[in-house]
Amino acid sequence: MDYKDYEVIVGLEVHAELSTESKIYCSCRNKFGVEVNTECCPICMGMPGTLPTLNQKVVEYAVKMGHALNCTIHNVCKQDRKNYFYPDLPKAYQISQFDIPLCEHGYLDVLVEEDGTVREKRIGITRIHIEEDAGKLLHDESFAGSLVDFNRCGVPLIEIVSEPDMRSSAEAKAYLETIKSVLQYLDISDCKMQEGSIRCDVNVSVRKKGETKFGTRCEMKNVNTFSGAMRAIDFEAQRQIAVLEQGGIIEQETRRWDDAKGESIPLRSKEDAQDYRYFPEPDLLTIVLDDAYVENLKRQIPELPNKKTARFMKEYGLTYGDALLLVESPEKSVLFEQAAASKKASPKGICNWILGDITRVMNETGKTIADTKLTPEKLAYLVECIESGKISNTSGKVVFEIILNEDKNIDEIIKEKNLAQISDASALNAIVEEVIKNNQKSIDDYRGGKTNALGFLVGQCMKASKGQGNPAKMKELLLEYIDKQ
Ligand SMILES: [Zn+2]
Repeated sequence: MDYKDYEVIVGLEVHAELSTESKIYCSCRNKFGVEVNTECCPICMGMPGTLPTLNQKVVEYAVKMGHALNCTIHNVCKQDRKNYFYPDLPKAYQISQFDIPLCEHGYLDVLVEEDGTVREKRIGITRIHIEEDAGKLLHDESFAGSLVDFNRCGVPLIEIVSEPDMRSSAEAKAYLETIKSVLQYLDISDCKMQEGSIRCDVNVSVRKKGETKFGTRCEMKNVNTFSGAMRAIDFEAQRQIAVLEQGGIIEQETRRWDDAKGESIPLRSKEDAQDYRYFPEPDLLTIVLDDAYVENLKRQIPELPNKKTARFMKEYGLTYGDALLLVESPEKSVLFEQAAASKKASPKGICNWILGDITRVMNETGKTIADTKLTPEKLAYLVECIESGKISNTSGKVVFEIILNEDKNIDEIIKEKNLAQISDASALNAIVEEVIKNNQKSIDDYRGGKTNALGFLVGQCMKASKGQGNPAKMKELLLEYIDKQ
């Protein structure tokens, strides 16, 4: 996107639902998709006289995210009431964290692909705090008014607030995708975008290039997909630039992004923190974490996807796109590394099988790799057999279907199914000679400059060899013959 001589400043607030068993302050199940108003109780509905109890898992998950994003963890912190009225909030306040969030002052390194190059960018993390989700309004045209489902009240959330460090929609997308994969690697959120497990608010401002003071920002709510976030940023940047170009000024406001229409519309003038009358939640104790607990959680953080993608590119020579697709799924990246450890098959070859046939089968059947009989050793050996010319790529697919479902030895399958590729020139010569004899026209065509006639001839050889001839070898023999005469 061309922003003319303006610079776009983007900051993001990501709300991620945590995949704990129960809600944040009561024992209701944290479950999506159950019948409306069946997973709620007097506590999460805020009945007078009830008291909340903090779910320890929520703190654990949030601290893990804090470590993953290089934050300072506040061992002592509190929770606060954020007061506002909305029909999906029965208590008329949300328990959140105001001045002392659980995690603060971190950063995340992301890989940004833009204009054909890949670069690393560090994005500051202002804070991560814990809070409860609100219910959900259901609008149905079959009756006047709206209904409310309280099942989502009290679902635990972390809000991850970034510094205004992003300078394009591409950087914002890279940031969002990295946040999502970090959540998945930590296994603390199911990240189902279609179920609203990750939602984001987008802050956008623009300024003339070279200026150091930030412009007035607008916040866009209701952004539910990453591509929608990109569209919202580009739309809003263009809108603000147009206003400034016409001599206007940007009003600080909250806008609603309408992805279907591709535009943002004003919702309300931006509220300030004071409008929410934050005060410390009197019904909950101060959160006090001992150092050993915090340190122990730090040790549980695995290698994170952003680091792993960079390492896959460096260590295995994969492209950014391939590395990203592998790393996206912890299971695929483990399979890749274990198979690549054999050193006999090329990393690129292994990667192609994982991103190709294996991903296809997983998508079609809904199975995970663990649900199949495929092992890293077998995958490596299969690729090795194809790369060494022992079997053809086509036969490789036959072997693949078998080792997926049966615990069988690859060499035995090749033998049983007679899949071994013939690469021996003396065995192939007879086939090639026969094809040449029967296809004089194609040979003349090739000599006459129709180079694709060669492909036809190789195809004929493959057919004559019942798919067992090594196509590269037969091509070589064909060319030898054509050049000779
Ligand atoms: Zn409840």
